[in-house]
Amino acid sequence: MLLQAQPTPVQEIHDAVLDKAGVRLLIKRLDLVHPLISGNKWYKLKYNLIAARGQGCQTLLSFGGAYSNHIHALAAAGAEYGFNTIGVIRGEAHDPLNPTLQFAADHGMLLHYLSRADYRRKNSVAMNEWLKAEFGDFYLIPEGGSNALALKGCAEIVADIDQPFDVIACACGTAATLAGLIAGLQGQRQALGFAVLKGAGFLCDEVKSLLSAGAYQQHDNWQINLDYHFGGYAKIRPELLGFMHRFETEHGILLEPIYTGKLLFGFYDLLAAGYFQPGQTVLVLHTGGLQGRTGFEI
Ligand SMILES: *Cc1c(COP(=O)(O)O)cnc(C)c1O
Repeated sequence: MLLQAQPTPVQEIHDAVLDKAGVRLLIKRLDLVHPLISGNKWYKLKYNLIAARGQGCQTLLSFGGAYSNHIHALAAAGAEYGFNTIGVIRGEAHDPLNPTLQFAADHGMLLHYLSRADYRRKNSVAMNEWLKAEFGDFYLIPEGGSNALALKGCAEIVADIDQPFDVIACACGTAATLAGLIAGLQGQRQALGFAVLKGAGFLCDEVKSLLSAGAYQQHDNWQINLDYHFGGYAKIRPELLGFMHRFETEHGILLEPIYTGKLLFGFYDLLAAGYFQPGQTVLVLHTGGLQGRTGFEI
């Protein structure tokens, strides 16, 4: 099984704020890597799909919330590459299905709901045994697709960028994408993550343990900014939507409020505060996930 990323453009953004600061902003359009397996999720799934095929597994099982970009991408990947998929969804059954779950079901995913209490035990041995008894043999992909093989895929994002930059920035949910970028940078240049959840200080340890799990070297050329969560995961505020609207209108690039909106808001806020040096080039990852715009009034 060979999975080759479609080439995606790096797009330079021009505006008065950037000119004034003397900073270049490049956006790597990972949102264009695949019409349905969006953005960083394509890279996170790549080596998991290859491993599952290599092990002769026909069924992929993973976990996510009812609006999960990962569940959406996994369902699409299963349909495209000929795997059965099972989505174990947090919380009570949706009837009717929301657009994310409807898409997953339409792409052949079997949806199974777990109460929030059971969902918290999703990584336990007992839950794994129960899932095997219920669904038979499967290749397990953790929530968000975040495991060592995800890092291997995301490290290739760095190799797929054909323009010089000083800082690479991305939004962090589980921070596996950031960990993969750190692996790909091999100690050169800087990586900057923007946490989209509140109280995300634990993500630094998460990055370190993901790097260890993938047998990658530890480096210290990275940071996670915790200041732009806007109240928590999937929480939004009018100033975030206002910013997104202005950015989308001015530059013609759509964002979504859960990840890329917070990331670019944070970038511009730090820029205004003089965080970046004149002459620096910052490359921001557009990690896709635009299916997540549904349900928000943008
Ligand atoms: C899942 C997702 C992220 C977060 O990736 P992690 O590896 O969990 O940090 C960022 N952006 C978008 C659009 C996503 O769907």
